[in-house]
Amino acid sequence: MKPENKYPIFSGESIRLVSYCPLCNAQYNPLSAKILEERDDAHLIHIQCRKCGSSIVALVLASGVGISSVGLITDLSGDDALRFKNNPTISSDDILQLYDFLQKDVDIIKHLSLNIS
Ligand SMILES: [Zn+2]
Repeated sequence: MKPENKYPIFSGESIRLVSYCPLCNAQYNPLSAKILEERDDAHLIHIQCRKCGSSIVALVLASGVGISSVGLITDLSGDDALRFKNNPTISSDDILQLYDFLQKDVDIIKHLSLNIS
């Protein structure tokens, strides 16, 4: 009888795709991975390296043709990734508005501190 795998996304090929830190090559502990979101055959996971402290966010996809993953190095914690995941996208209008603001001769630090407090 085959033992039940408590962590199916970490079986077979998928574990090899996200098993080493891209910065220091230390092996990840799969139990330290945090699943941020899961849908049918896709998992969004966050893993922090125990050795160097860097983190990756990876999308692991299982389809009829196999398993693939796309990962990126991030400075976000797992909680930050969840918090920003649902934030609205920055639009080109937002960037233009910021550009216009920066053209004015304002003390940005003073402006931000007034608007935060
Ligand atoms: Zn590392």
